[in-house]
Amino acid sequence: MTIQWFPGHMTRARREIQEKLKLIDIAIELLDARVPLSSRNPMVDEILQGKPRLILLNKADLADARTTEQWRTYFADLGYASLAIDASTGNRVAEIPLKVKELLHEKIARQINKGMIPRAVRGLIVGIPNVGKSTLINRLAGRNIAATGDRPGVTKGQQWIKVGTEMELLDTPGILWPKFEDQLVGYKLAMTGAIREQVLNVEDVAFFAIKELAGRYWDALAERFGLTEPPRDLEDNNELVRVMEDIGRKRGCLMSGGRVDLEKASGIILRELRAGNLGRITLESP
Ligand code: GDP
Repeated sequence: MTIQWFPGHMTRARREIQEKLKLIDIAIELLDARVPLSSRNPMVDEILQGKPRLILLNKADLADARTTEQWRTYFADLGYASLAIDASTGNRVAEIPLKVKELLHEKIARQINKGMIPRAVRGLIVGIPNVGKSTLINRLAGRNIAATGDRPGVTKGQQWIKVGTEMELLDTPGILWPKFEDQLVGYKLAMTGAIREQVLNVEDVAFFAIKELAGRYWDALAERFGLTEPPRDLEDNNELVRVMEDIGRKRGCLMSGGRVDLEKASGIILRELRAGNLGRITLESP
């Protein structure tokens, strides 16, 4: 479900998160490891108002592992702790409460020094649609809680979910909008499946994907689709369309007269890319 982000929705989403910030100790910012910049809300620093923060590079199973580590270093240099996780399989999700406690150790130590029994640390998951917020909440809760595709303004009664004994999580995530005023960002989010095709033309998105992949990931493309002829010039649109046609021919996407059905080929390219069938691919480097 694609949220239409009109200015009113942004204001409301922002206000909802800021209300929730009053209740929590730490914000857990979820990004897509394949597109850490494009999946980041442009105003996140302002919105989170200096709350302690843990960055999670989610869907790391689909991303290039080496680049993911470069991103972690990049965020560390900015002063943010991060973890690379797969919410859907649960890989490294168990490290989240440990990391959160580590980040809040001073606050916890202060409570102990005052003779208090430290209460569970409270967190809020925030991120743009489709980045895996609900999947992660369910994973951390160990059961199905969050309805996927939540929208800003549609809040149910908020509850705390226990994650082990020392952490609690708000059951509704903070939903942020992407940086969509930049067209490249829109295409990258469409490639990864965060924006559905109703918004962008499927052939345009697949063309953009081929353009992005033909340089850095030609071997993966060639292997998956049995291609033998790389584009001679990545800036030559005709050459890129020729690659799309080659893929269409290999997959039997033909119309009468033997012309390649580019729309069908485009659907195949995007489906297999998003499913990870081309291997682990990251579209942005620090
Ligand atoms: P939300 O809109 O942020 O709540 O995102 P969802 O939790 O609904 O997830 C969006 C899609 O991403 C779903 O199809 C999930 O199965 C998928 N997804 C979430 N986390 C991961 C992950 O770590 N790896 C992969 N491959 N898919 C994931």
